[in-house]
Amino acid sequence: MQEYKNRQVIVRFNPYACSHAGECVRGLPQVFDPSKEPWIDVDAATPEAIAEVVECCPSGALSYEYIVAAE
Ligand code: SF4
Repeated sequence: MQEYKNRQVIVRFNPYACSHAGECVRGLPQVFDPSKEPWIDVDAATPEAIAEVVECCPSGALSYEYIVAAE
């Protein structure tokens, strides 16, 4: 399982589950870019926009978690 995170959100990616449907790349190409390393840039969009696209992943390869800042 690969993890990509910033202070607001963690995106997890299971490469073995990915069916290469491309929903993520089409939905937010600035975040999900397989030509880049790392291929997921969680700083390139708002956590809410990323969450919306992650929920469209048909294989369940992508998941996300919001990080709640500790007071
Ligand atoms: S949307 Fe999900 S299944 Fe499709 S390419 Fe992205 S990670 Fe893979």
